[in-house]
Amino acid sequence: SPPEAERRPMTLPPNTSLEKFNTFMQRIGDIVGVENATVISSEDELKHESYLDPSKAYDMFHVTTKEYFVSSAVVAPRNVSDVQAIMRLCNEFEIPVWPFSIGRNVGYGGAAPRVPGSVSLDMGKNMAKILEVNVDGAFAFVEPGVTFIDLHNYLVEHNLRDKLWIDVPDLGGGSVIGNTVERGVGYTPYGDHWMMHCGMEVVLPDGTLWRSGMGGLPNPNADPNAPPHEQAANETWGLFNYGFGPYNDGIFTQSSLGIVVKMGIWLMVNPGGYQSYLITLPKDENLHQALEIIRPLRVGMVLQNVPTMRHILLDAAVMGDRKSYTDSEKPLNDDELDAIAAKLNLGRWNFYGAVYGPPQVREVLLSVIKQSFLQIPGAKYFEPKDMPDNVVLQTRNDTLQGIPSTTELRWVDWLPNGAHLFFSPIAKVSGDDGVAQYKVTRQRCEEAGFDFIGTFVVGMREMHHIVCIVFDRKDPDSRRRAHWLIRTLIDDAAKRGWGGYRTHLSVMDQIAETYSFNDNAQMKLNEKIKAALDPKGVISPGKNGVWPQNYNKADWKV
Ligand code: ADP
Repeated sequence: SPPEAERRPMTLPPNTSLEKFNTFMQRIGDIVGVENATVISSEDELKHESYLDPSKAYDMFHVTTKEYFVSSAVVAPRNVSDVQAIMRLCNEFEIPVWPFSIGRNVGYGGAAPRVPGSVSLDMGKNMAKILEVNVDGAFAFVEPGVTFIDLHNYLVEHNLRDKLWIDVPDLGGGSVIGNTVERGVGYTPYGDHWMMHCGMEVVLPDGTLWRSGMGGLPNPNADPNAPPHEQAANETWGLFNYGFGPYNDGIFTQSSLGIVVKMGIWLMVNPGGYQSYLITLPKDENLHQALEIIRPLRVGMVLQNVPTMRHILLDAAVMGDRKSYTDSEKPLNDDELDAIAAKLNLGRWNFYGAVYGPPQVREVLLSVIKQSFLQIPGAKYFEPKDMPDNVVLQTRNDTLQGIPSTTELRWVDWLPNGAHLFFSPIAKVSGDDGVAQYKVTRQRCEEAGFDFIGTFVVGMREMHHIVCIVFDRKDPDSRRRAHWLIRTLIDDAAKRGWGGYRTHLSVMDQIAETYSFNDNAQMKLNEKIKAALDPKGVISPGKNGVWPQNYNKADWKV
């Protein structure tokens, strides 16, 4: 077989001949070594199907055909200098890269690029060091390949968990950097990962190295002869986010303006005690009252963490596939949902929370929480010890104290060849708003022939309503219905003033277009910044609906 750099990819980068691509790959090989550069040349490379062994080149949960969102090559830089050299090369060739850290961004596109044929930059493969865990300052600095599981294990192995906890999303196999720059969430009091980041080192599209905030002020003890990325950083970099002057960190989230090579994240000090709980709500209509109860408790910080209000089928799906509950082909009706809830000893809605602190603190908080929720007729309170066989409660007990797992993967197998898309609108924490979102989304799910599976994730002042659209990726009709469903939901939601907080590659443009206030002022600013920092459009063209000036968005319609 021909050497790597002479192979033909399934999809070439835009406006790139095979000859030019081969020359580019030759030069890439000179930078990172041939062992770190793989051309995606055949279907054989599109065989990955599991979160546990994720693809670096395509979207395993493809709603389009499998071959559509595919990269031309996967390149893994060995260090920051490689990333800088790659960016300079990309500008020379006008070939775009799509950086990812681990590629487990499941439900939103995984590792796949928005523009087919982009070169994937596998940031996590060789750059996976935990650079620092600072116990006194309660923060860590990590490279892109550090997963939540890695960081947690580090604390355990260094006997640090009695001092520090991390915050983890539902699945612990993704990277701290990838999840944080996508503005993902977890469930402890530190659940808003972006809020808790502090200090970024970014390679800009032209190859420049930039440090955020206090990182802009040199450390007087740093070695001036070392390359900038190796120079010791200012000691307050991980302690104070804003530095001086305009605060730019945000433009590197959900964006295409830079490649994050180091990031600081605040860790939670072990609170000295912890108790998780589950409150079950027997009836669908209890949702309204429960959300009204949650709002004052959450803004008042009686609810200390990011609790979740989960629909029965999300829990049921972790415990078994659809076939294990029903032979019906139709979306489950209210009676069937009630029967499943009864069988599992759960409610139609199930609220998972936790209290943190020494016993006296927990007792006070829990008594308020119980008093408030147990006003709801039929509501019941459980602790993990009451339900040793309830795998969801046992898993939440870990997740809410920052212990990562992959148990929640199981709900994706609700259908055979299970894949999923997330529709994730922001909701007010109010009975009217939450119930309205539930009604609209459930009805559309059922119209599309799917069961409604969803959860309300309660942030500081709003909820991320996460609707899990589970479909059969090997059934074209199922894929088509899932795609129809998400597009329809985005429109339905925008008409009511609800916007998505994050989305899948295939509908990034559509969501971006819903943020249209004042003649698309947000997009116009994004495009101006993009043109200024990345005139040749070499980083993630089309990401979150932002297109470089040398691309015609209409050419890339999905
Ligand atoms: P995870 O770490 O959860 O597996 P991914 O690695 O799939 O997440 O990253 C999700 C998305 O976040 C990517 O598609 C990309 O847009 C962005 N991203 C991830 N890592 C970086 C990085 N180091 N620099 C810039 N953007 C990144």
